[in-house]
Amino acid sequence: MGKLSCNADNCVNNVGGLCSADIISIKGRDAISSSETVCDTFKQKGIMNALSSMGNTNYVGEIEQMFSDFHEILMTPEVHCNAKKCIYNKQGICGADNLFIYGPKATSVQNTECETFINER
Ligand code: SF4
Ligand code: SF4
Repeated sequence: MGKLSCNADNCVNNVGGLCSADIISIKGRDAISSSETVCDTFKQKGIMNALSSMGNTNYVGEIEQMFSDFHEILMTPEVHCNAKKCIYNKQGICGADNLFIYGPKATSVQNTECETFINER
């Protein structure tokens, strides 16, 4: 599993630039660039979304991260992805070592993208 950082700080799963979800889903079936991908697990911060996300939280990773210094990324989700044209896509699972999800000021899934996407040639 690779290391993931994310700047979608309006997302309920974003903890200091890391993702506390257990599993995330990246979508972009026909994507040929990062801008055509989204993090479909994004949910805007708020009490209702916090409650509904509790079933998809990486509690073990959160605890490990708390006890490490934040420079080392220990908390990272399993990344499911349907962007089949990305070179890192291994049968629906992301195989990238370092993954960056972009979405500053995002208020919806559509404002996010996988910056690590590289189109296969
Ligand atoms: S936008 Fe996606 S990767 Fe970023 S914190 Fe939210 S669920 Fe995690
Ligand atoms: S790097 Fe590629 S395979 Fe990994 S999540 Fe992003 S688009 Fe999907």
